[in-house]
Amino acid sequence: MRLLEVVLAAASLASAAVTPSPDEQVVYDGFKVVRVNVTDGLPSLKSKIASLAQTLELHSYADHMDVALAPSDVAAFEALNLPSDILDEDLGASIAAEGPLVSFNSIAEVGANALPSDSWFNNYHPYSDHLQFLKDLQSALPQNSEILEIGASYEGRQITGLHLWGSGGSGSKPAIYIHGTVHAREWIATMVVEYFAYQLVSGYGNNATIKGFLDSYDFYFFPVVNPDGFSYTQSNDRLWRKNRMPRSSTSAKGTDINRNWPYKWEVSGGASTNPSDEDYRGQAAGDTPEVKVLKAFTDKLAAGKGIRLYIDFHSYGQYILLPYGYTCSKRSSNDAKQESLAGTLQAAIAKPYGKRFTYGPICSTLYAATGGSTDVSDIASFPVCTLIGKRKEPLTRLLQYMTDVAGTTYAWAVELRGGGSGSSGFVLPPSQIRPSSIEIWQGMQALIPSL
Ligand SMILES: [Zn+2]
Repeated sequence: MRLLEVVLAAASLASAAVTPSPDEQVVYDGFKVVRVNVTDGLPSLKSKIASLAQTLELHSYADHMDVALAPSDVAAFEALNLPSDILDEDLGASIAAEGPLVSFNSIAEVGANALPSDSWFNNYHPYSDHLQFLKDLQSALPQNSEILEIGASYEGRQITGLHLWGSGGSGSKPAIYIHGTVHAREWIATMVVEYFAYQLVSGYGNNATIKGFLDSYDFYFFPVVNPDGFSYTQSNDRLWRKNRMPRSSTSAKGTDINRNWPYKWEVSGGASTNPSDEDYRGQAAGDTPEVKVLKAFTDKLAAGKGIRLYIDFHSYGQYILLPYGYTCSKRSSNDAKQESLAGTLQAAIAKPYGKRFTYGPICSTLYAATGGSTDVSDIASFPVCTLIGKRKEPLTRLLQYMTDVAGTTYAWAVELRGGGSGSSGFVLPPSQIRPSSIEIWQGMQALIPSL
């Protein structure tokens, strides 16, 4: 196999102690990933952390918040005297250990109509290679697949997917619809989604079970639904989350695509209205090019044979999240079945490596399970990626859109590996790609026959 290593330009333009402009490279050398315990409420803790000029919030939960603590903020952080544990001594070193990004010339190795080598799953890769990998997969099962380019991102990249079908022909069955990497820094999601697709392509001709999956459902895989943000994480800032769309009123770039879906968008207490925030919802419902494209495609699937299962893969924390998020008082009409299926998925994921994924409705189960609140009735929705916090902030409208508007039978978000002692959360070594992918594939093999 021919591998050509491509090392991105050394990240040396910006000091960690200086706030970079949006187009500079951001360096995390010397940053520590710190888990801070919540003692007097998350809002209080968040305001204290916000006082640290260069420190970045990663995830917040009911009982703790993970932050990337800048070297220049260490003294101020220590003065706050917050109970905390260091999860990663040097985030910059962990980022270095992820790479270099490996370019993958699979066609030259295996021929145009054969599968790409599964050594793809040994490393992270440049965005352009992900597009080639999808094309290579399509070429390996040409009669049962197509590449989908469903529309352009803000910077003009086509949001690209792979559609697979079985003996009934294209578009003849309900959809299993998979998104990954809406949050640009959640790299593991890209690889896990591709592994799922790879297993279907490689097994269709020789595995009766897998053939049965494809004969029962049309599969739609979109490993990177935020291509601008993902590309930016590879060129400038490993921990970028949003898209890259500017707004006229501010120098801050980016909207959280997951907070921009045109459903319950206007609910107050929702996502941030501040363009500088990581969960900025945009100026109007659905006003990002990415959401327009994804919504149109989703509506098309819904109007066809319908969507049986939708999963939005994120990281980190190991959760299987079910509707509803925007209210704790509402349960899905098929809630018991959803819980049962999530339990099936949880058990299967745990089999290969013992990893436990927590599951439940985004609001009620997880919220209550983590200490909850005495006043949950007015929670507008719940943040999937800044999850389980005592925060009355909205959530991803996406699962609600999928459920209530698109009529998806099961619309879930899955938070993959990462987090906890010794982990930088979003930054996982390449050695984690394969086990993360295998455990989710195990889960899917248990889930799909039960849908
Ligand atoms: Zn996410």
